[in-house]
Amino acid sequence: MTLRNLVVVLGDQLDAGSAAFDGFDPKQDAILQMEVREEASYVPQHRRRLAFFFAAMRHFRDQQRTAGRRVEYTALDDKANGGSLHAELQRQARRLHPQRIIVLEPGDWRVREQICRLELPIELRDDRHFLCSRLDFARFAQSHSNMILETFYRSVRRRRGIMLQSDGKPVGGKWNLDSDNREAFGRKGPPRIPPRPRFSPDATTSEVVAMVRREFPHSPGRLDDFDLPVSRADALKSLKDFVTHRLPTFGRYQDAMHSGEAFLFHSHLSGLLNLHLLSPREVIDAALSRSDVPLNSLEGFVRQIIGWREFVRGIYWRLMPDYAEHNALDAVLPVPRFYWTGETDMRCLAEAIGHTIDHAYAHHIERLMVLGQFCLLLGVRPYDVHRWHISMFWDAIDWVSLPNALGMSQHADGGIVGTKPYAASGNYINRMSDHCRHCRYDPRKSVGDDACPFTTLYWDFLAGHRSRFANNPRMAYAYRNLDRKDRQEVSAIRRRAEKLKTQLTAQTFL
Ligand SMILES: Cc1cc2nc3c(=O)[nH]c(=O)nc-3n(C[C@H](O)[C@H](O)[C@H](O)COP(=O)(O)OP(=O)(O)OC[C@H]3O[C@@H](n4cnc5c(N)ncnc54)[C@H](O)[C@@H]3O)c2cc1C
Ligand code: SF4
Repeated sequence: MTLRNLVVVLGDQLDAGSAAFDGFDPKQDAILQMEVREEASYVPQHRRRLAFFFAAMRHFRDQQRTAGRRVEYTALDDKANGGSLHAELQRQARRLHPQRIIVLEPGDWRVREQICRLELPIELRDDRHFLCSRLDFARFAQSHSNMILETFYRSVRRRRGIMLQSDGKPVGGKWNLDSDNREAFGRKGPPRIPPRPRFSPDATTSEVVAMVRREFPHSPGRLDDFDLPVSRADALKSLKDFVTHRLPTFGRYQDAMHSGEAFLFHSHLSGLLNLHLLSPREVIDAALSRSDVPLNSLEGFVRQIIGWREFVRGIYWRLMPDYAEHNALDAVLPVPRFYWTGETDMRCLAEAIGHTIDHAYAHHIERLMVLGQFCLLLGVRPYDVHRWHISMFWDAIDWVSLPNALGMSQHADGGIVGTKPYAASGNYINRMSDHCRHCRYDPRKSVGDDACPFTTLYWDFLAGHRSRFANNPRMAYAYRNLDRKDRQEVSAIRRRAEKLKTQLTAQTFL
């Protein structure tokens, strides 16, 4: 029997309701899923991340087969595997002779280019997963020369009628309650943190874990105690658990950090959203169904999903491929080697990297104000920071990692994602965590053996980029403080910063 449509489902498109399935007829059509080595190794990848992707793909396959759909599945260790998406797709096209190959818009520019170059009867379909299509974002960008998150966020809320009163004003009178969402835990430490749900591997997942151990013995990250959600059913349980137990406290401690606590009150849903095991709309609806949740938590959470998540995707597709080349601050150093091992005496970094090695996860403030900020202050090549994120996080896909890592955290796009760099001295980390209390460095000091490297590098960053930032009104206060320092102190800071940059980047991995 001739095959009519071959529906390609990439690893981050695990949604049986996607546009790729519109008109799917099990009698004439089939699904193709491919595990390929190139995607698992174009940068070295955390083994937990690899296991998460492959296990989720295999669960999707099994679910589709149970639903009576034919699935052609190439396992990573299949002898005939073409090794890359384009080679394997060509091989399968030769083997199956479909009249048409349907592919949902990929989430990675590189993959899209590869697929579009193939001389095959390919139909690309728009990805409805997002609330804001690429066309919607293009319209927004055309009517707003400054693409600012806040304006975008309000427009999505208005257009989708999310958290609005009957007069069109925001529920509670304010669009943004961010100022209520910056509390630290203080000396008492966090209140009880409801544990995130853990999922014991079933036979399919155990097989994947064994395969990843075997095939990627030198990849980074811990794989023991694999407990991630990998199916649609697991994803729904994770969502329910979050909105029931952690959402009420999410807002208040959104920016806080604490030793030994990777997840705190965060949702841990990003990987599930990014593989399309959950849709943003159902996540928002689940949160909004909780009428007892404080407004600052609800608004803060909704803003991350319909604001930041949709905004960075819009930026990515509007500005790629040039976006990846941006390096506004001319940063040239490599990612320090300890980013792969966690072996550093800087307590905040050891904690955040430790969470990443253990869980392929760190929460937003750890990513932005510890991991990302240190690279920014040090002067690490922005694209390498993005590559490190792709390597290490369960939720990293090009469209979301690049604008966050290169744009938001490294300010390499010159102010497209954020109007000022996220730079602060060690005092910020001291205020938001207990790390400095257990650290050999002193966050208040910028020179001397026990001076906090963040603090030294922060003043050096301001001094080094004066011509770019001194006239930015949002940085006026920082420059006033720098100008209070006498010339000798600034020279001593800059000498120490140079030494740190040389020492800390002498060894690298990528
Ligand atoms: C340097 C850097 C790199 C990042 N890389 C990624 C990445 O590769 N993949 C990724 O999904 N997120 C990335 N983020 C955004 C954010 O840090 C993660 O989405 C979040 O930490 C995931 O944890 P969570 O699910 O517990 O999120 P929560 O804190 O519970 O937030 C809820 C949800 O909001 C969404 N969200 C929040 N902030 C952002 C944001 N800035 N951009 C996009 N979505 C957001 C996520 O889907 C997240 O699950 C990055 C941020 C930074 C600063
Ligand atoms: S003193 Fe500096 S290096 Fe140490 S934990 Fe605090 S901010 Fe991090």
